[in-house]
Amino acid sequence: MAISYIKNREKKIQKYRFLTQSFFALLCMWIGIEFYFYVDYLQSAGMTGLSSKPEGVEGFLPISALMSVYYFLQTGELHGAHPAGFFILLGILAMSFFVGKSFCSWLCPIGFISELIGDFGEKVMKKVFGRVPKIPLAVDYILRTLKYLLLFFFVYVIFFQMTQIALKSFLDSPYNLLADVKMFYFFAELTKTSIIVIAVLFGLSIFIRNFWCRYLCPYGALLGIISFFSPNRIKRDASACIDCKLCTKACPSRINVHKVNSVVSDECSSCMSCIDACPVKDTLQFRSTITKRKFSKFYAAGSLVMIYFIIIGLAMISGNWKSKTPDERLFLHMKNINSLSHPRSTADVDHLNKKAAETFRK
Ligand code: SF4
Ligand code: SF4
Repeated sequence: MAISYIKNREKKIQKYRFLTQSFFALLCMWIGIEFYFYVDYLQSAGMTGLSSKPEGVEGFLPISALMSVYYFLQTGELHGAHPAGFFILLGILAMSFFVGKSFCSWLCPIGFISELIGDFGEKVMKKVFGRVPKIPLAVDYILRTLKYLLLFFFVYVIFFQMTQIALKSFLDSPYNLLADVKMFYFFAELTKTSIIVIAVLFGLSIFIRNFWCRYLCPYGALLGIISFFSPNRIKRDASACIDCKLCTKACPSRINVHKVNSVVSDECSSCMSCIDACPVKDTLQFRSTITKRKFSKFYAAGSLVMIYFIIIGLAMISGNWKSKTPDERLFLHMKNINSLSHPRSTADVDHLNKKAAETFRK
């Protein structure tokens, strides 16, 4: 193989991925700060704070969003409690369908933090052990099923256990209306147990790359399943491949890229590290299984970000982005927020709704 052929001078995309991840992480931090002032507004019944909710916070309510999607499928109506969460979920599903599971490695702030911790861990382990020890594949396979079990639990409860009435009752319940505030309190007032759980996950992520994403995140499991149906895949041109295995070495998801003609894996997050690492130009490329056309990693990256923003933009332009719950209703529910716990049954939901109705009457 001539040396000139081996040199691939194509620009790397990882720097752009890092910038995109950083932008979204900063955006989430900004949303968090704004939400802090919005919670103050609710607590003070409109006397202080920020009266407009940063709707992006609803992106952190995936279960409620999944219920809204199911409600929409059943009734054709968009539930008014957290419509932004509904559209954020749609955006994430759409981008992960067109460019397999790309949300995880391009936009997700948790994925970004996991990656940074993983990079740090690898550096430390290389210094200490001279190499990066990997978890045995058999154990890895078993652990990977955990996130599917969590996903199937949520899917079973929402899609197979809840009637349309139960679904609407939950979505209308004060617990759901203030789910974002409850989540804020959870992180603002971390209990000892929560701190221990977060510290353990943090520690494990140092030694096992992407521990949370790979083994426990049900969102990632859902996107992994969706990516199987993606019409666009990374293809390897076997005739050009020099079998250097650099792609496989670069893959954070332990996929044997150098052995396959097409990357079909629920663990592939479309990070494009393999394409960047390949020394032979155009050997690894995205290809549409429908049109059979190849397209560059830059085109794929631009498309996935655009798909997400188009969906969010359409929701905003069409006036469906903002919650329809009146502030007065939220002020009233805020008075009982500490007694609002996650309803475990339809009876719990009914009880919460009855209590809310009584508060209104008073
Ligand atoms: S196969 Fe390529 S795009 Fe997929 S996770 Fe591995 S390195 Fe990233
Ligand atoms: S596809 Fe993988 S093994 Fe083949 S040349 Fe590229 S990096 Fe090397």
